Amino acid sequence: MKSFKTESKRMLELMVNSIYTNKEIFLRELISNSSDALDKLRFLSLTTAGLPSEYKIELTIDKKTRTLTISDNGIGMDKTELEENLGTIAKSGTYALKKEESDKKADEKATKTTAKKGKGSKTTTTTGPEELIGQFGVGFYSIFMVAKGATVVSRKYNAESAYKWSSDGVEGYTITAAQKDTFGTTITLTLKDKDSESDKLLDPNHITSLVKKYSDYIRYPVVLDSKTINSMVPIWRKTKAEVKSADYDEFYKSNYRDFAPPIKVITANIEGAVTYKLLAFVPSQAPFDFYTKEHQKGLALYTNSVLIVQKCAELLPDYFSFVKGVVDSGDLSLNISREMLQQDRQLKAIADSLEKKLLSEFKKMLTSEREKYEQFFDVFGLAFKHGAYDNFGANKAKLQDLLLFKSSKEDKYVTLSEYVSRLSDDQQNIYYAVGANLEASKRIPQAMSVISRGNEVLLLTNPADEFLVKTLGEYSGKKFVSVTNSDISLQSDEDKAEVAKATEKSADLLSKVKEELKDSVKEVVFSKSMGGFASCLRNEGEISIEMEKILASMPGAMPFATSKILELNPAHPLINNLTAYMQDDSSAFTTLCNILLNQARILAGAPLDNMSAFVEDINKLLCK
Ligand code: ADP
Repeated sequence: MKSFKTESKRMLELMVNSIYTNKEIFLRELISNSSDALDKLRFLSLTTAGLPSEYKIELTIDKKTRTLTISDNGIGMDKTELEENLGTIAKSGTYALKKEESDKKADEKATKTTAKKGKGSKTTTTTGPEELIGQFGVGFYSIFMVAKGATVVSRKYNAESAYKWSSDGVEGYTITAAQKDTFGTTITLTLKDKDSESDKLLDPNHITSLVKKYSDYIRYPVVLDSKTINSMVPIWRKTKAEVKSADYDEFYKSNYRDFAPPIKVITANIEGAVTYKLLAFVPSQAPFDFYTKEHQKGLALYTNSVLIVQKCAELLPDYFSFVKGVVDSGDLSLNISREMLQQDRQLKAIADSLEKKLLSEFKKMLTSEREKYEQFFDVFGLAFKHGAYDNFGANKAKLQDLLLFKSSKEDKYVTLSEYVSRLSDDQQNIYYAVGANLEASKRIPQAMSVISRGNEVLLLTNPADEFLVKTLGEYSGKKFVSVTNSDISLQSDEDKAEVAKATEKSADLLSKVKEELKDSVKEVVFSKSMGGFASCLRNEGEISIEMEKILASMPGAMPFATSKILELNPAHPLINNLTAYMQDDSSAFTTLCNILLNQARILAGAPLDNMSAFVEDINKLLCK
């Protein structure tokens, strides 16, 4: 006997002992696997002679032996495939990754629970087995929620011999030679010992209702007692009136292994230059690997209900990579090879039409289902942002109206068109502030100053955001301008006059401060656009302090610094102190110059070169 790989064992434990209530989904998992196996053989039959003309999935119930059998005449598995597919799970290592995460969460919870002990709280792991089943394609393993043992007898298409995989679901499995006349796979489950739940699975009526509930759309007959019990019409070929939204949710969940229903279902029946049916889903949560290299975009491509490719990447631009679903078109030639498909003109035409369709659906969602759209944007908005700046902004015109930004007005999401519609006629800029989070970006002194003058500021918190606004450049004739950019002057005429007067009076002070700070800043000036603080940093040119941090953190980055201007607020009492120190306490003057610079760096979110020196400087002045 071979034992299961460690991860599989752990998964099995979770599964067998799970309190997961939806045990019946095992049937849908097995039927889906059979359907996939039939798809594969049917695809071959397009180009190969002598394959079965009839494809089906057969269910058999035997009350005496308490067994339930699922049999298909699909592609089958050879010995290696039995071993690889049913002996281990999560080959890609994604399970390990998730496990680490869930262990960490469990640890955190356990710590919290210990603290609360005695108050009747109980420990629960945050990643339940159902979530794992959902995310790692461990569909087959779900049989162990209902079965105490299973055999899988399979004969691969074109192979001489068959093999039998058997397991009692705990320790491991054996693979032995077996006898099977036809190609395909037969799975026999020995149900768990007598209890009402397992007994139900021996009732043909109950099995029929499960098939109708979960697998009705399967394109092959699911046969029980010589009767076909599913309707066999693929769900995307039914009219919208025939399908309940719960049916779409069920189809989505079983096909895309998600436990949450999709946030949006998009259906279309396109006729014209190209003809196809579309059933698309927008998940309500990002798949765990969505923002990694492992994630593969694509829609299932069918031609007249025959599956051509499970994940056809060519159908979706990258910025729609989160969309799942099916395209079924009669326009593609039936015996097209998967390689040829990539250059197919029809496919390109479908992809173009699909892109337009999806864009218009998202626009519709933004206007008529704003709350839902915001939830969607929280999860997948980054894909649109990337899409808008990728390829030097080639797709920005398509995407800019689908972008949302948090704004200083009520902390809510705004679209660019909403922002611009609120501008006064003479305001030419779209102001933005970059910070580590919303609070930080709002509290940048210059942002406070801009906001206090009644302007709305877009608050950017994601490293991608700044690249994005730089690539967009402008929207509706208004330029994107950082609040820390030296090009903008937000001072009233009164302020300007005050600043000019102070500058004239204290020219000596400004040049002494600059001398003191040497190359740390390019210039030291007075200004009144810093929301009441004593000092702040403004950057000259294109690269902001936030961007500088990002660039510096990139592998192989060259050290460089943006040219920064230190602005001092002439109305702040500290500047009076500074003037006094300049005259009679040169050591305190040096200390205060450093403090003013470092305060400004902190406010701008820039790192300090020497934290302890900064603290010492403050203490020195406090002790005076
Ligand atoms: P998933 O279906 O997500 O890949 P499963 O654990 O359900 O995960 O199945 C693992 C693999 O075993 C499948 O991908 C498929 O290659 C193979 N398999 C399962 N059932 C069958 C079947 N009835 N016929 C042929 N291959 C099958």
